[in-house]
Amino acid sequence: MKPAALNALKVIISEFDAPICPACDEELADNDGLCKRCRDSLPFLTPPFCRDCGGENYGILEICPECVARGPSPWACALSIMKMENLGRELVHKLKYAGETSVAKVFGHLCADKWKREGMHVDGVVAMPAHPVRSLARGFNQVDLITAVFAKETHLPVIRPIRRVRATPRQARLNREARLRNLKNAFAPKRRAPASGRILLIDDVMTTGATMMAASQAILDAGAREVVAMSILRAV
Ligand SMILES: [Zn+2]
Ligand SMILES: [Zn+2]
Repeated sequence: MKPAALNALKVIISEFDAPICPACDEELADNDGLCKRCRDSLPFLTPPFCRDCGGENYGILEICPECVARGPSPWACALSIMKMENLGRELVHKLKYAGETSVAKVFGHLCADKWKREGMHVDGVVAMPAHPVRSLARGFNQVDLITAVFAKETHLPVIRPIRRVRATPRQARLNREARLRNLKNAFAPKRRAPASGRILLIDDVMTTGATMMAASQAILDAGAREVVAMSILRAV
């Protein structure tokens, strides 16, 4: 079994463990993910939301000033859940760098909650593909795990119409121009797994949106009619 599949299985099996809060290790009465105190301190984004990045929008237009500056994006609209700060940042670090896979369950539930509130329709869900070398080093792709939990709860099919095609230097060290250059052609549609209809693309963190843009474009190239981009954390 592939490490990602094994970890997805662990997340599902952990539904039956004595539940503890992955943020503070407190024992939980039910298996809802986080304890009430931690859940109440999550840095949720508050409306009005920007249609184009899902972040908070204090501007006078439907899309935020940052998205106006970035120019048109390939997705139809974007949703996001939390700010990349405090407990939000802590949880994503626990998941990505400390291998706390139970955080994926929390994030998957949060995505499903948001999705249900939005009441949208999509035909399939895509997890942002990680670079194979990076997920091999980590043992799993955290977005795969989040997407598996989300799909289980929403009964949506997970599809894999795109793949990473080039090793990309770590995005965090690059500025926006360099990121865009770096990501051009970083994803390609898979010839044997076309997409169709409206597709939801999930990623953990959206910063400049460059990765989301490149992957969305590849999903459209794979045959999808429309992409909805969803990130758990919106970093600005
Ligand atoms: Zn807690
Ligand atoms: Zn925006």
